Amino acid sequence: MSTEPSAAISMPPAVPAADPPWAPRPPFRVPTRPPAALTTHQDCAACADTRSWLLARDRAEATPGRATDATTFGLGWLFRHLRWGPNRWPFAWCDLPDATHVDCGVLACVAALVLAERGLRVERVQLVERAAAEETALWRARWRAARCSDDWLLTDHAVYHEVLLVAGEPGPVLFDPTELRQVGQGRDRPLWMRQWAL
Ligand SMILES: [Zn+2]
Repeated sequence: MSTEPSAAISMPPAVPAADPPWAPRPPFRVPTRPPAALTTHQDCAACADTRSWLLARDRAEATPGRATDATTFGLGWLFRHLRWGPNRWPFAWCDLPDATHVDCGVLACVAALVLAERGLRVERVQLVERAAAEETALWRARWRAARCSDDWLLTDHAVYHEVLLVAGEPGPVLFDPTELRQVGQGRDRPLWMRQWAL
């Protein structure tokens, strides 16, 4: 995976890439790390098996309408196996079968693997999204109870999130594999985003 941000995103960014020095600073610390990456253990049969199983499972779900479904990309089956929630990092492919919960970084990695295997051009996108204080309080307690890092909760009102930019017809789709929907364009529009080439 590249560790450099790719060329400009084909949707208007929520915050211009090059703010003039007098521009107001966002009320959260902009993430500097690259998107989450699952570890592949060298010579680990379980890591290889997990990825083979995911790809085979996706092929088994193939339906005629899936290719044009730019809302879920036919990835609903993932949620019969993976539930959103806290997981510890680093996280390897062979950790997936036993994981009780996985976060948006794991879901983005898994969805990117599957969609790329279908021949779709996929890029990773990091977002900062708005959240309600009640939500962030709930999530913070949940992540802490699981002894997982809650550094994705940037403030009481802003959270780090990982999604995908999927090339499609008629245009690229900003797809959220955690919510299984397109990223909102209205009030739900992200506060910040950065795109990474795979
Ligand atoms: Zn492994």
